[in-house]
Amino acid sequence: MSTQTITREEAIGPFYIGVDVGGTSIKVGVLDDLGRTLAYTSFPTEGEKDTADAIRRITNVVQHLLSSSKIAFSEVAAVGLGTPGPMDIKRGFILDPTNIPGWRHYPIRDRLADALGKPVTYANDANAAAYGEYWVGTGKNHPSLVMITLGTGVGGGIIIGDLSIEGENSFGSEIGHVAVDYCAHARMCPCGQPGHLEAYASATAVIARTTEQIQAGRSSSLTGLLAKNHKLTGLQIAQAAEAGDELALEVILSTADYLARGIVILMHTVDPAAIVLGGAMNFGGSQHPLGRQFLSRIKQGVDRQTFSLLSQRIVIDFASLAGDAGYIGAAGLARAANKFANG
Ligand SMILES: [Zn+2]
Repeated sequence: MSTQTITREEAIGPFYIGVDVGGTSIKVGVLDDLGRTLAYTSFPTEGEKDTADAIRRITNVVQHLLSSSKIAFSEVAAVGLGTPGPMDIKRGFILDPTNIPGWRHYPIRDRLADALGKPVTYANDANAAAYGEYWVGTGKNHPSLVMITLGTGVGGGIIIGDLSIEGENSFGSEIGHVAVDYCAHARMCPCGQPGHLEAYASATAVIARTTEQIQAGRSSSLTGLLAKNHKLTGLQIAQAAEAGDELALEVILSTADYLARGIVILMHTVDPAAIVLGGAMNFGGSQHPLGRQFLSRIKQGVDRQTFSLLSQRIVIDFASLAGDAGYIGAAGLARAANKFANG
């Protein structure tokens, strides 16, 4: 994590707490009214333990962060909480998260609100990350954005004004499950439906697509690594592409082509000011030649498939808050809900 922190003297209240629950770690931060972080930390999720235990640990961490940043509890206006799905956002329940086996059908929003004595705004982790980028990240100068998170799966968030699109059933912004391939032999998504973006553009899918090609006899500098380790990593594929491996580069650029299809569907549905690409699979981002090549291929694909006005105006770029977008955005959503509630 690399988020810069500010001091109590620089900060402008009221203050907000953001909590971002992931499969391996929970991140918590204290933010001021302008989205600047005063203090933050992360600790293991320990997902095999029950949710009540996690609430106790989150509460302890919040108290510690507030005291270290010299913020009184009374100065905290609201708390934001992001978790992976599936979830029931309206009722504040986390339902059955794949990577957190001990957390099942738990009223997490209200239990955290009880423990902290503050209102808690509950959001999908990908929507929270999108709001973070919208509030203080790549989207900060844009009135609306769609964020696509490329990691183990493909997540998404749609933010229009201060509104995060969650939907009637907490399935809003599920961009990973937009269909981008209707062929008879389309790849199967982990959700059980064929042809979804996640089946092509997640890190898991990029690794699977590369592995299948090598096993089918395509020559690649990765053949030896695959034989030795019985599996590849996204980083190895990126490094092979950089070193000139034809197959690795082909898989990465075709991933960009599938993403372009998904992005065009979103542009023609939402027409956002910006599309932001987040998650670990960014091929080095804009600081790196492969990241720039990946982004440029996405833009070319979008240009071919959309209206010229949209293609001229859309901003497509990498996210800038990395792993901190989730807790920052959770705090931002709490701030937006708090301001709305107080008129
Ligand atoms: Zn799916």
